[in-house]
Amino acid sequence: QKPLPSDLEIARQADLWPMAKVAQEAGIPEEDLIPYGRHVAKVDLDVLDKLKDRPQAKMIVVTAVTPTPLGEGKTTTSVGLAQGMAAIGENAMLTLRQPSMGPTFGVKGGAAGGGYSQIVPMETLNLHLTGDFHAITAAHNLLAAMIDAHLFHGNELNLDPQNISWRRVIDMNDRALRSVMVGLGPKEDGVPRQTGFDITAASEIMVIVSLCSGLRNLRERLGRIVVGFTYSGNPVTAKQIGAAGAMTAILKDAIQPNLMQTLEHTPALIHAGPFGNIATGNSSVLADLVGSRVSDYVITEAGFGADMGAERFFNVKCRVSGLTPSAAVLVVTVRALKTHSGRYRIVPGRPLPADMLKENPDDVLAGADNLRKHIEIVKSFGVTPVVAINVFHTDFDSEHAVIEKIAQEAGVRVAKSYHVVRGGAGAKELAQAVVDACGEDSTFTPTYEMNEPLITKIEKVARGVYGADGIELSAQAKKDLKRFEELGYGNLPVVIAKTHLSISSDPSLKGAPTGWTLPVREVRAAVGAGYVYAICGDMRTMPGLGKTPAAKNIDIDENGEIQGLF
Ligand code: ADP
Ligand code: MG
Repeated sequence: QKPLPSDLEIARQADLWPMAKVAQEAGIPEEDLIPYGRHVAKVDLDVLDKLKDRPQAKMIVVTAVTPTPLGEGKTTTSVGLAQGMAAIGENAMLTLRQPSMGPTFGVKGGAAGGGYSQIVPMETLNLHLTGDFHAITAAHNLLAAMIDAHLFHGNELNLDPQNISWRRVIDMNDRALRSVMVGLGPKEDGVPRQTGFDITAASEIMVIVSLCSGLRNLRERLGRIVVGFTYSGNPVTAKQIGAAGAMTAILKDAIQPNLMQTLEHTPALIHAGPFGNIATGNSSVLADLVGSRVSDYVITEAGFGADMGAERFFNVKCRVSGLTPSAAVLVVTVRALKTHSGRYRIVPGRPLPADMLKENPDDVLAGADNLRKHIEIVKSFGVTPVVAINVFHTDFDSEHAVIEKIAQEAGVRVAKSYHVVRGGAGAKELAQAVVDACGEDSTFTPTYEMNEPLITKIEKVARGVYGADGIELSAQAKKDLKRFEELGYGNLPVVIAKTHLSISSDPSLKGAPTGWTLPVREVRAAVGAGYVYAICGDMRTMPGLGKTPAAKNIDIDENGEIQGLF
C-alpha cells in the first residue's frame, strides 16, 4: 500500500465549494448566511424559527472505547460517516467542536479529521476560525477585570478576595500562568491577591456558549455565573457585578454556529469547544438544533470515551437541546483494544511499541472487556450502539474478526470503516448500519432524574455508567454538596471530572475495572453553565507545552501557505 499524503497535502488539493453553494445544498436559506471570508460562514439563528415546522433530524453521537493517548479517530470517523451518509444518498449535517489553539501548538494531533475525511480549510479551522474563542476570552476577562475593579473601588458586595473562583483565561498552553499574583505595586494598581489562568476551552463561558439556546438565554446564564463568595459565604454573581449585559454584547456573534465543509462538501457546523476534563466536552446545542432543522441526520462527536463525553452528551446536553439520540457510533481500533489487554504501554509523542503492530488477535481479545463495557454503557441509555472499526493500514483481518465477533455476541451492528484512505466511499457500510440503527425504536433514558439529590446523581453515574461499587466523598466534598443543596443548585445535572484514560478513576486500570470506588475530592458549581462538577483526581485546567511543541514546526512559505500544521 502506498503511503497516504499528509493531511495538509490532501487538504490543499481540495476543491472547495463557495459557501453559498454549501449552504444551499445543506438547506440553509441564503439570507441566513453571514460570510466570514471565502470558506466559512456564520449561520443566523433566525433560521431556527423559520424552519421550526420542519421534521426534526435523527441525532447520532460518535463516541469511542477508552482512548489511548493517540486518539482513536472519533473526529475522523465523524467526518467519514457524514461523507458516507452522502455517499449512500442520505442528507446529513455534521456538528463538531472548534479546536483550541493551545493543543494545536502543543501536541501534534489533527483536530479536523484526517486523510480523506477532513474539514477544510483545515488551517482556518485550526487557527482562530471566526474568533469565537477570542470573544469568549474577552468576555471572560472582562468579568475578571470588573471583579478586581470592584474590590479596588470599595468592595460594596463584600466579596472575600480569598474566595474568588473566577480566574482569567487565554487560548494557549501556558503553564507559567497557572498561578499568578495580581494587584502588585502601588495602591492604585489594585488589590493584591493570588489567582491564575485557565485555557479558554475550560472557561465556564465556553460551556455557556455551547449550552445556551439563544441571546436571551445567553444573558441569563452569564448573569447566573457565581464568581465567588462574600465573607459570610453568600454567592456573588456576574449579574451583581454588573457584567452580564456587556459580556452578552461581546458574545453576540460567537453564539452563531460556523458553517464549513468536508473534503466532499458535506456541511459541517463547527461551534464551541468545552474542555473535556471538567466540562461537558461537547459542541454546541445551537449547532445541533440548526442541523436538526435542515437535515435528516445530525452527526456529532462527544469527547473521550462513552463513559465521559457520551455520558455528558446524554445526561446534560440532550436534556438542554431536547434532541433525543437515535444511535451512538462506538469507534474502536485494534490498537486501543491491544492497549486494553494491559500488555503494552503507550507513551505520547513516542512511536508505538513495535510488537503492537504485529498480527495478534489474542491481544485484541484480551482487551475486549473495554469494548463490551462501552456497548453496555450506550445501551444503558436506551440508545442503539453501532460499533465502527476505524481501520488502520497496520491492522490484520484476523484482528478485525475478533472485534466483529465481540459486537455480534453483544447483539449490536458492526462495520469496518475505511474513510481515512477512501473518504465517504470507504464509510458506506458504516453509514448504512447507522441508518438501520436509527430505524429501530429507541427509548432514551438518562441515568438520573433532575430532582434527585446531587449525591444520588453522582452515585448513579458511578455505579450505573462506570460500574463502580460506590462513591467515597472527602470531608470537603460532603461540605460542598450540602452547601450546594442549600443554595438551590441541587436540581442541576452533574459532570464527573475524572481521567479519560480508564473507565475507573485510576488511569492505569485498563479494560473494564471492577471492585473499585469513585473518590470525590471536591465539588464545584458552574451555575451559569448549569451543572455541578465532582472532582475525582487531579484535574488540570491549564495545559503546558512539551519540550518540542508542534509550534516549532509551524511556519509560512514564500507563497504565504502555512507549513507544518498537520
Ligand atoms: P479523536 O477524535 O478520537 O481524538 P482523531 O479523529 O482526531 O481522534 O484522530 C487522532 C489521530 O489519528 C489523527 O491524527 C488522525 O489523523 C489519526 N487517525 C485516525 N484514524 C486513522 C486511520 N484510520 N488511519 C490513520 N490515521 C488515523
Ligand atoms: Mg476528536
